[in-house]
Amino acid sequence: MEKHSKIIREILSQAKINVENGYGPFLAALYDETGNLISQSSNSVIKDCCSNHHAEMNAIKLAEKKLGTYDLSKYNLSLYVTAEPCMMCLGAILWSGIKKVFYSVSTKDVEEITGFDEGIKPDWIKEFENRGIEVCGEIEVEEGKKLLTDYVKEKREIYKPKREK
Ligand SMILES: [Zn+2]
Repeated sequence: MEKHSKIIREILSQAKINVENGYGPFLAALYDETGNLISQSSNSVIKDCCSNHHAEMNAIKLAEKKLGTYDLSKYNLSLYVTAEPCMMCLGAILWSGIKKVFYSVSTKDVEEITGFDEGIKPDWIKEFENRGIEVCGEIEVEEGKKLLTDYVKEKREIYKPKREK
């Protein structure tokens, strides 16, 4: 567990630096079984003018390009992310073949703090586990919440608020 906490703390501090450079307040990193960093990316939706450039999507794309495959399953990769993945990223994780998911703040915290709408995710942890994907969440939550709280306090852009019907 200590190893996971250490990585989460590291990606949270990198995320903070990236926010200063115009990225969104989410960062994802993929590691192999021996602890080698395969890819890392922040959310770049605003920077790239692309609604699907979430941190997880970017990190998956970078890893697949680097390893030259659309199927990461044989690499036994672990995804570390500063917040629970949204509806879109859950789909991308399933398609990619990632084996383990570790995250800091929950969707409930993300939505309460920022107003981002994370989508519909019924019982996703159970669904992942049924497919052999291990999930461990709410690691270093206070630090994770601080990243988001600071983002809001600094009046940075919330680009996908809950929309009126
Ligand atoms: Zn996402």
